Amino acid sequence: MAIETRHLTADADGYAQAAEVWRAGGLVAFPTETVYGLGADARDDIAVARIFEAKGRPRFNPLIVHVPDAEAAKALVEWSDAAEILASAFWPGAMTLVLPIRADAGLSPLVTADLPTLAVRVPAHPVAQDVLRAFGGPVAAPSANPSGRISPTEAAHVTAGLSGRIEAIIEGGSCDVGLESTILGLAAAPTLLRPGGIPAEAVEAALGTTLAQHAEGDTLTAPGQMTSHYAPGARVRLNATSARQGEAFLGFGPMDCDLNLSPTGDLVEAAATLFRALHALDAGKAGAIAVSPIPETGLGRAINDRLRRAAAPRDVTP
Ligand code: AMP
Ligand code: MG
Repeated sequence: MAIETRHLTADADGYAQAAEVWRAGGLVAFPTETVYGLGADARDDIAVARIFEAKGRPRFNPLIVHVPDAEAAKALVEWSDAAEILASAFWPGAMTLVLPIRADAGLSPLVTADLPTLAVRVPAHPVAQDVLRAFGGPVAAPSANPSGRISPTEAAHVTAGLSGRIEAIIEGGSCDVGLESTILGLAAAPTLLRPGGIPAEAVEAALGTTLAQHAEGDTLTAPGQMTSHYAPGARVRLNATSARQGEAFLGFGPMDCDLNLSPTGDLVEAAATLFRALHALDAGKAGAIAVSPIPETGLGRAINDRLRRAAAPRDVTP
């Protein structure tokens, strides 16, 4: 179902329209100094689920949240001395900090892929700055390209990849860095999670320490943490047609169940509900969760990927 993608101008009128789209739960691509981002209100479960749908992402990997200044970042993450040093040195700019998420951050769990940490960035691009200020809330934004394609550095690249799948594109010229942001993990010892626009050497000089390296194939956090994170306390059984003794039944589509990911069988709604539903059933009395089959199409692939990890044996790192 194609939607009409509006082309907005990079001026006060365009920013006001973009902010309105975000408030209504829509998707707006906007330029940053690294690449064009595909933004949604980070507090809106459905809007964030639609990012994954529009990109055709086969997985719920965590998204970077964009805010206009460090003050706004402090409302979302547990701040630290290292964060203060790096924010003063490199924000606004091509640096993303991963810090423990605050309990009162109010973001959709889809933004962090339900991790206990949040990636946050203050972009320097004047258009990104102005549209974030016009909106006044946190914007989750991965690169504005279909999954598996090259990151867009011009509005025309976004149009080519996502036209008909998103509400609007801000025409803001080309991105000058063209590289993605440098991602630094600060939840434990400062770690280079992804090299990018700001050189690791500059970060090390500012911190006065060397960065730990994120080895290829490492999970995003300590492996033990990751396993327990993917898996609810309750066992998970997939492709169930009904609940057995002691199981809570998580449904999809019209059916009798304890909780339904989407009574109408809408995959966007199911994606938006997934983490909250797993937490709710996990907090209940049932020792196991039986999950109704989810179609392996569109967002269903990302939902099933996540459910398979939740159902995987507990002694195996996903
Ligand atoms: P993109 O939005 O396409 O630039 O990619 C976002 C990058 O940020 C991915 O490589 C993620 O793995 C990383 N990222 C986002 N959130 C977190 C997090 N909470 N912990 C570690 N890495 C993260
Ligand atoms: Mg990307």
